[in-house]
Amino acid sequence: MSQLRVTVWNEGVHEKTHEEVRKVYPDGMHTVIAEALRKHGHSVLTATLDEPDHGLSDTVLAETDVLTWWGHMAHDKVEDRIVDRVHKRVLEGMGLLVLHSGHFSKIFKRLMGTSCDLKWREANERERIWIIDPSHPIADGLGDSFVIPHEEMYGEHFDIPAPDTLVMVSWFQGGEVFRSGACYQRGQGRIFYFRPGHETFPTYYQPEVQQVIANAVKWLAPVGRTPMQYGHRPNPLEPLG
Ligand code: ZN
Repeated sequence: MSQLRVTVWNEGVHEKTHEEVRKVYPDGMHTVIAEALRKHGHSVLTATLDEPDHGLSDTVLAETDVLTWWGHMAHDKVEDRIVDRVHKRVLEGMGLLVLHSGHFSKIFKRLMGTSCDLKWREANERERIWIIDPSHPIADGLGDSFVIPHEEMYGEHFDIPAPDTLVMVSWFQGGEVFRSGACYQRGQGRIFYFRPGHETFPTYYQPEVQQVIANAVKWLAPVGRTPMQYGHRPNPLEPLG
């Protein structure tokens, strides 16, 4: 496979406003995710909320095969015209990896069409992620399950449409479970939601988590084909008479 062009988008607000988060991600969590993807051989750009167009110009998006999205406290600051732009690119074939609190992002809610609400608790508990579709490319290199020692809990019910494929389920120390690795297709584009990544924990440094993100980027990559053509088709392919 040729090198994929990945844009790692991060709201980037917690890292500037919360000392606790800055200690974990001094240069922003996007730099950690980007570095992990570079190690897996991808060509990676980063983009953040405070850049013009949130770093997502038409040119950047046109040259992006897969966009990753982390946001939390500033979902409402993401301009609708940029959401429209990302939405259009997903329907055209750009892959989208939505991470953790990105479940409440404008783009994910629009693509899902549901509230995307869930239960949550910040209690530093253990999360065990079970691979329930071991033949799926996103499960490549992972065992039956892996543990994230400290995470925020997300619990069912998670108000998403039934995934096209569910690759992972999380169990939490407090007893809840959660659909934590969910695949969708919208238009020509693929979407993967991956649950872990609360900002106060070093989750994105963990090798298994980086492996899932790298696998997901590969699976999300658009297939090479000419753009779809819709609408009026006056000329039949075969003679009608
Ligand atoms: Zn969180």
